[in-house]
Amino acid sequence: MSRRNFVKTTAALSAAIVGIPPFNLTNLNKFFENNDELIIYPFLYRSVNGVFQILDIKLWGCNWDCKWCTNKFQPLNKAMPITVSINEIIDSSNLMHLDVPLPTLFVISGGEPLLQKVEVLKLIASLKRKTDYTISLETNGYLIDENFIEKVNKLNLDRIDISFRNIDDEWHKWYTGGYSNRHVIDALKLATETFEGLIGVPIILFSAINEIIFEKMCKLLHEINPDFIIKMMYPIREPNDKHQLERYLRNVNRMGKIASRYFYRIFPDPDNLNAFLPREMVQYEVRRTYGGVDITKSWRWKRGEN
Ligand code: SF4
Repeated sequence: MSRRNFVKTTAALSAAIVGIPPFNLTNLNKFFENNDELIIYPFLYRSVNGVFQILDIKLWGCNWDCKWCTNKFQPLNKAMPITVSINEIIDSSNLMHLDVPLPTLFVISGGEPLLQKVEVLKLIASLKRKTDYTISLETNGYLIDENFIEKVNKLNLDRIDISFRNIDDEWHKWYTGGYSNRHVIDALKLATETFEGLIGVPIILFSAINEIIFEKMCKLLHEINPDFIIKMMYPIREPNDKHQLERYLRNVNRMGKIASRYFYRIFPDPDNLNAFLPREMVQYEVRRTYGGVDITKSWRWKRGEN
């Protein structure tokens, strides 16, 4: 990016977020200099478990407003969006890439990545050409359509994850800022009918998701597609729960047993939990410089060290 464009883009983004909660910035088109650039949170994440390493890029903006979305908490809530080119993303992923004998899962998350559909398609195409990563796209499903799926099929996208937050629609609307779980169910059906890769369904194990609700969710999901990967996620930002980690680990076992009656792909595998829990997590801060982008390690956690 030229110095002129750098100044222009930064100024445009800064102006745009005055008076608007940047988290809910959804009309991103006007900020692009060209569609080889994406607007992202200025943090990249790497985590390693015993099965793979995950590189995660978080795209800016979301059309939903989930109560305990991690982007509403430190450090993401104070962050300013930055624009990066697709080449810069790939170069940064090479810098983050640890030399571990494990496959790499590259996750395009957000925010809602489908607010930047054209650029996301270009990113997937580039990653497919230049890396051997398995590529996964995380979306709330609201903006997915047949045309987009047709395009990601042509690019051999490996996986799409669509979160299912609760079968109770009133709770779902309360949690997401008014959005019905019908959108998620329709998106899961559409992906089942048309997407050629794997489909993951993250279910965050909030305290509201008891065994009865979880089983109802599994039954419904099984009717849609028994090949779904069921992901039992840690409720990282649910407030007022002092025993969250212990509860999560207990729940992975309890809910995992329920899930295994309906599905054969469950993450983390309750029978091999240790292999799936993170061993190391690193956060990198991304700064734009006139010559490109600079990434520095800003936080690190290693199991057994902290
Ligand atoms: S859909 Fe995801 S990114 Fe958007 S508000 Fe909800 S949790 Fe956050």
